[in-house]
Amino acid sequence: MDDCIFCKIVRGEIPSAKVYEDQDILAFNDINPVAPVHVLIVPKKHVSDIMTLSEHEQRAQIMESVIRAVPAVAKAAGVAETGFRLINNCGEEGGQTVMHLHFHLIGGRKLGEKLI
Ligand code: 5GP
Ligand code: ZN
Repeated sequence: MDDCIFCKIVRGEIPSAKVYEDQDILAFNDINPVAPVHVLIVPKKHVSDIMTLSEHEQRAQIMESVIRAVPAVAKAAGVAETGFRLINNCGEEGGQTVMHLHFHLIGGRKLGEKLI
C-alpha cells in the first residue's frame, strides 16, 4: 500500500525505533507512548484490520507470526518477566487510527485493571 504509514515504516521510508524484526513482523516503539514500554507489533503484509484479517487466506500464518513475535518483543523490551498487555484496536469506536493491522504491547509499569 503506497500511502500506508506502517507500510512505509516496514519499507524503511519512514524511520522508526526498531525493537524486533523477522521476515514477517516489524516491531517498533510507538511515537506517542502511553506507558514506559509501548511497542507496535506490525505484520509486514498489509491487512487493514482484524476483521479483514479474519477473511484473509493467510490469516493463520499472519496470526502465527504475531504470536511467535510476542515473546521476542517482550524480551527485547524488558517486560517478559514483569508482564505486559497486548491490545488490538479495530474500527472507529475501537480507536483504530492507522489502518494497517497492529498490536500494542504495553508495559513497564503496573497497568490499570482494564485498559491503560
Ligand atoms: P491505533 O490507534 O491505530 O490502534 O494505533 C496507532 C498507533 O500508531 C498510535 O498509538 C500512534 O501513536 C502510532 N503512530 C502513528 N504514526 C506513527 C509513526 O509515524 N511512527 C510511530 N512509531 N508510531 C506511530
Ligand atoms: Zn500498510
